[in-house]
Amino acid sequence: MKHTQMIYDQDVISRADIARETNLTRTTVSSIVADLMDEGLVVETGIGPSEGGKPPRLLGIVENARQLLCLDLSSSCFREALVNLRGDITCRVEEMVNGRTGAAALSLIYDLIDQLLAETTTVILGIGLGTPGLVDTSQGVVRDAFNLDWHDVPLKSLLDGRYPYPVYIANDSHLAALAAYTFSDQESQNLVLIKAGRGIGAGIVLNGELHYGDGFSAGEIGHVSVVEVGELCSCGNYGCLETVASVRSILQQVTVLHGALQSPTWEDILAAAEQGDETIQAILRQAGMYMGTAVAHLVGILNVRHIVIAGPISRAGQPFLDGVRTAVNQRVLPAMAAETEIGFANLGDDIVLLGASALVLNYRLGII
Ligand SMILES: [Zn+2]
Repeated sequence: MKHTQMIYDQDVISRADIARETNLTRTTVSSIVADLMDEGLVVETGIGPSEGGKPPRLLGIVENARQLLCLDLSSSCFREALVNLRGDITCRVEEMVNGRTGAAALSLIYDLIDQLLAETTTVILGIGLGTPGLVDTSQGVVRDAFNLDWHDVPLKSLLDGRYPYPVYIANDSHLAALAAYTFSDQESQNLVLIKAGRGIGAGIVLNGELHYGDGFSAGEIGHVSVVEVGELCSCGNYGCLETVASVRSILQQVTVLHGALQSPTWEDILAAAEQGDETIQAILRQAGMYMGTAVAHLVGILNVRHIVIAGPISRAGQPFLDGVRTAVNQRVLPAMAAETEIGFANLGDDIVLLGASALVLNYRLGII
């Protein structure tokens, strides 16, 4: 699969270059490329400069050769898109969940898939799906997704029974990390992405591969306790990161601490922070400090230099980011803190959809 990755990574590449990089013989490479061309995934795009002999023919990926059908179930609105091989979204549908759980949430998914299948313009390479909760990616089973009231739901087999395409499922934070790794320019093979909205979870890419953990729960930092005598969390423990740094907890803190702003929305809070409201800025900064405590442990354990913050919290701006950085600076060795880059993701609301497309690309074509 490394050859497909090379053609994908380079805009154009010759058969000789692939042979050189992969240590495969030219005959083997030619045969592999012939197969990829037969499948319509690769075309010859032109002639390269001669290196002494006959000038080489250059190869490139046909970005619209396949479509990936991707779903993001991680927010109060189920989102779905058709994505091409380069992560470009060509068509999308979405629908508010409106409290639907269990079987009703499943039929919403079937409806959305049926709608987009009617819009496809080429062969579907696979269905990729990002869901909140604990997901057994190898079996395609959602072990627990509390918001959707799903427990041991065999989502992959249910979809396999309805649609003739391979189905891949993973946790939404894991997929967001995969998206940031696959679709952003970065040189390191390692990355940690923390996704925070209603809940908080992280995805960890190590040596170019998503690290799921023994029980598929790697990066479950939302329920690591960061406050000594903290509030009761939905998980039954006290002082979890989610009780102090999730969007939901920030909304509660503003309601309690801010005289003028009662029952604010996330938009209200962002607007007030933007306009210089010092109480709100201090709350965001403190939430960032708690997040930074968790980040410091990840940096100390993994020595990953690239930390990305995504999800609704990524709009919390400079006060939040300052808080994260301050806590990291206080809690890890100065040399390690200095070489750690912490920033917000730039893939917007589509990050889980793009991660789902990367998951399908990874399984079907060996591309990441
Ligand atoms: Zn908890």
